[in-house]
Amino acid sequence: MKLNGAGKRPVRRDRLIRERNHDTYMARSKYREPTVCPDCGVVYHKGRWQWIARPEGAHETLCPACQRMHDRYPGGFLTLSGEFLAKHHDEIVHLARNVEEREKSQHPLQRIMALEPHDDGILITTTQMEMARAIGDAVHHAYQGELDYRYTDEANILRVSWRR
Ligand SMILES: [Zn+2]
Repeated sequence: MKLNGAGKRPVRRDRLIRERNHDTYMARSKYREPTVCPDCGVVYHKGRWQWIARPEGAHETLCPACQRMHDRYPGGFLTLSGEFLAKHHDEIVHLARNVEEREKSQHPLQRIMALEPHDDGILITTTQMEMARAIGDAVHHAYQGELDYRYTDEANILRVSWRR
């Protein structure tokens, strides 16, 4: 899977994530073609999920992203916290939503699952780790602060935290 803007960040971290990136929700079943997701309307066509018009006679099965939402099983966690966040809350949430729109348009299975208050900040859960990472990177790029990544190997989950 292509990681957006990977060249800008240190090589070691990118390689770690890319090598270990295997989505168990993708491998779980083979989809017949064409298949449409009844929840979000994304279409499985030519071996991948795409935002295209619903083909005639399409099968219906939940896409991996909606399946994760039903299971409440995120692939990525991003916590945002700190005094700066508190003062710029709406602005930063807006940025997160913009990043989601951009990423989702290119990678249909990457979504925000939930965005909710958490301790002294916000917890954003995402269907895939790349989305947590993309939002964390965008917030860090826009506002500096401290950004940290923790990858949990056994669960194939990425936890990103940003603080300022
Ligand atoms: Zn779906």
